[in-house]
Amino acid sequence: MSEVRLHDTLTGATRPLVPLRADGVRIYSCGPTVYGPAHIGNFRSFLFADLLVRHLRWRGYTVTWVMNITDVDDKIIRGAAAAGEAIGELTARYLERFLVDADTLRMTRPDVLPRATEHIDEIVALIETLLEHGHAYRTDDGSIFFRLSSWPAYGRLARLDPEGMRVGERVEADEYGKDDVRDFALWKGPKPGEPSWSTPIGEGRPGWHIECSAMSMAHLGPSFDIHTGGVDLIFPHHEDEIAQSEAATGQPFVETWLHCAHLRASGSKMAKSTGNIARVGEVLDAGVSPRALRYALLAVHYRAGLDHSDESLAAAGAAVARLDAVVRALETYREDGHGDSTLEGALQAGRAAFGEALDDDLNISAGLAALFELVRDLNRRIEGRTLSTDDASQALAALRDLDRVIGVLPEPEADGLDGELQTLLDERAAARAARDWAASDRLRDELADRGIAVEDTRDGQRWHRIAEVSRG
Ligand SMILES: [Zn+2]
Repeated sequence: MSEVRLHDTLTGATRPLVPLRADGVRIYSCGPTVYGPAHIGNFRSFLFADLLVRHLRWRGYTVTWVMNITDVDDKIIRGAAAAGEAIGELTARYLERFLVDADTLRMTRPDVLPRATEHIDEIVALIETLLEHGHAYRTDDGSIFFRLSSWPAYGRLARLDPEGMRVGERVEADEYGKDDVRDFALWKGPKPGEPSWSTPIGEGRPGWHIECSAMSMAHLGPSFDIHTGGVDLIFPHHEDEIAQSEAATGQPFVETWLHCAHLRASGSKMAKSTGNIARVGEVLDAGVSPRALRYALLAVHYRAGLDHSDESLAAAGAAVARLDAVVRALETYREDGHGDSTLEGALQAGRAAFGEALDDDLNISAGLAALFELVRDLNRRIEGRTLSTDDASQALAALRDLDRVIGVLPEPEADGLDGELQTLLDERAAARAARDWAASDRLRDELADRGIAVEDTRDGQRWHRIAEVSRG
């Protein structure tokens, strides 16, 4: 059995993954706030969690993956007011947009996508427990705050000095009632024009941090294996999650914390406030294929900063095109014969190197190096005609197996081309057989105009969809 090792932010150690329960690995990821389209920096963090889930499943683990949807908060309330619509309309629209973008980028659909507004009962129950145990207090406006002085372990995740923190943080006008500037809101009292719920702890709405404690524990239990998010969530969001959860349950909240570094553009963190954000749709509209964008966001180790640029997208597009080429070559390869006696060993070695790299804290760079080493080896065998037709199928199956983790190979062309395109392809084959080169070239151009590139090989015509490689 392989040993997956992960870098835990809390301890700073890279440790073997030992699932807390025999029935599988439980993972929670902080998901999107649905008040606008997610930018590709958000998706870097989501796709790193996708890579983790895919790799663990590939290694044979049962995984339960929960990603929350924040569908009530200050930004949503402001956005809905500005657009003159109900917050439910705004969040439904951007949740749909998020799911479309996630599917486009081939993100595994999480097993549960819980929404904050559908977990008010769990949130309220958690706050009630914190109130009972003296970890929370009410203020005059109906808000409820976590009492930081009641939780001495605060700050361990972000390695903060408990005395010095939050002093520089902007204090919201509605938070002046706090006992201590470091305390944070669990529940916000009702305000005109804001959504609120009537609950046993009073009228109001949840603060942001409490929703992740309530929803993760509702779906995964009080202690679970892995919590992921971007580094910008370490403080205060994840510190607050630990404090609320452990103060309420008396149990360790999360076994391993994984944090993804920033996506940078033009030298600084991609964020709405810096104005250098790129949406998924914008990047695709510029002619980048979804698979190339996925590759670009995955290809650098999650704890290393990633620079988003035209160059990195072009490199990703070239890498995906190399993978497409070997897949198409193997799909159309035909050769009778005994087969290649060293192929099996090469495929096994490639799989082992790839798996060991990913086991090592998702070392994607080494994993992709192993994958492309295998691709080079396969291309040599294709060119040398050492493979049999069966060998080619076996090699293709091996690549598709590794792609369960990476998720960038082209879809299998199970049903081939639709009728009209197949007719053009057949006509071109006939033209070549008749040595009518003018007709052959004309038909090739016609196919190209319709997004099909044709190449002539000794196995006959080989085609692939141009649109899949680049929409430009
Ligand atoms: Zn969260």
